[in-house]
Amino acid sequence: MKRLSIKNRMALWYAFSILAIILLTMALLLAVGDSLILDETEKNLMSLTDRAVRDVRITDGALSIDEDITYYNDGAYVVVCRDDGTVISGLLMEGFPPLSDFSENEIRKVPGDGRNYYTYDRLIENRKTGRIWVRGMTSAELSDMAPSAMKMLYGFLIALPVLFVLAMAGGWMITRQAFAPLSRIIDTAESIRQGGDLSARIGLGDVHDSDEIRRTAAVFDEMLDQIENDFENEKRFTNNASHELRTPVAVIKAQSEYALDNPDDPEEIRESLQEIKKQADSMASLIEQLLRLSRADRGIEQLKKEPADISLIAEEAASRHLQYARTKNITIRTDAEEGCYMPCDAVFIGRMFDNLIDNAVKYGTEGGTVDIIVRKEDAGIAVKVADNGIGIAEKDLDHIWERFYRADRERRTDSAGEDARSMGLGLPMVQWIVREHGGTVKAVSALGKGTAFIIFFPY
Ligand code: ADP
Repeated sequence: MKRLSIKNRMALWYAFSILAIILLTMALLLAVGDSLILDETEKNLMSLTDRAVRDVRITDGALSIDEDITYYNDGAYVVVCRDDGTVISGLLMEGFPPLSDFSENEIRKVPGDGRNYYTYDRLIENRKTGRIWVRGMTSAELSDMAPSAMKMLYGFLIALPVLFVLAMAGGWMITRQAFAPLSRIIDTAESIRQGGDLSARIGLGDVHDSDEIRRTAAVFDEMLDQIENDFENEKRFTNNASHELRTPVAVIKAQSEYALDNPDDPEEIRESLQEIKKQADSMASLIEQLLRLSRADRGIEQLKKEPADISLIAEEAASRHLQYARTKNITIRTDAEEGCYMPCDAVFIGRMFDNLIDNAVKYGTEGGTVDIIVRKEDAGIAVKVADNGIGIAEKDLDHIWERFYRADRERRTDSAGEDARSMGLGLPMVQWIVREHGGTVKAVSALGKGTAFIIFFPY
């Protein structure tokens, strides 16, 4: 069986709760009211009969009835009659059965013409007149005893279905309103599932909303932002990676075909093989860097932090680049304060320096300088890698941390544009390493004058 929606279940719950409360109240009112009404009716019947008895006199064997005798009061009637049921005086109720079957001082319920009656009999005994009965009678029907209570009851019975429908409609509307955001969440999720459009948002409330459903919607939207962002990054990353691999693969293909076409020319074959090796090296380096970044992204690149001297790591990295710097006649100067210890992963910090110095040389100008400075400060260790090379344009400065971003390639053809190692992955790795060590990194640059990377590792 199909389950009812929460909306309908709640509306039904409201309606039935209200119905139960009304019915319970009515039953209670009736139970209490009924006995109260009955009590009143009996009292009235007895007092009317007793008063009438006092007005019936027998003097010297002669029966006389006071003129001011009351035969009727508030629905109760009194009749004076003989033992055989002959009426002497009084008022008989319409539909009341023939007067018989008397019983002294007792309230009894007797059936009559289509309805029930209460009777109350008093006996006056006299030898001369015989047994004289004073009978009080009143209707035993609630409609006669308390007509207004009955009217109220009927009113209630008529109003009940109306109240039930109103309660149900009200409950349904309130829950519908409360659940409206939930429907939007479902619609949005459905549209994303069907159309794959990750830009769809629910657009309700914010994460601090006191309404739980609206807060859920806001958190859901934030999660979608994150997923869309990650998805876009992933797409860009895959596009860029395949684009980067396409060129070396095309060169390798062309060179190998060329070599195969010239089997008798060892010199041509040698040149082709050299080019193939260069491209293969470039691909290996790209794959290596991609793997490292992907491991960093997935959080499986574990840092092994131990106290190490940053100055020493900087000096070692500088010496690794001396030969490369010499090819461009660039001087590397290291000014590293002794004993700049901090807990770090020496391999990764070494890689950070390698990337920065490599860039400084790569984008440095012939005969230029690269300065590496490491200083102990009160709050932490400050590092600076500066060059007086080609610099970075203002518009590129914000993007250099993005994967595969390479600024102004045309302008660099004379210095580093042709460099197979330029893949736009060095700085993202630097940024990741610095962040993993709780530090900050920024680039300051002036086009044509040089660039400085300033890093700070707080203690
Ligand atoms: P790449 O492999 O291209 O060097 P990076 O991520 O290391 O990739 O650097 C991204 C871009 O930032 C470089 O392509 C270059 O345009 C710019 N850049 C980085 N360092 C320097 C520098 N010292 N001087 C000038 N430009 C730089």
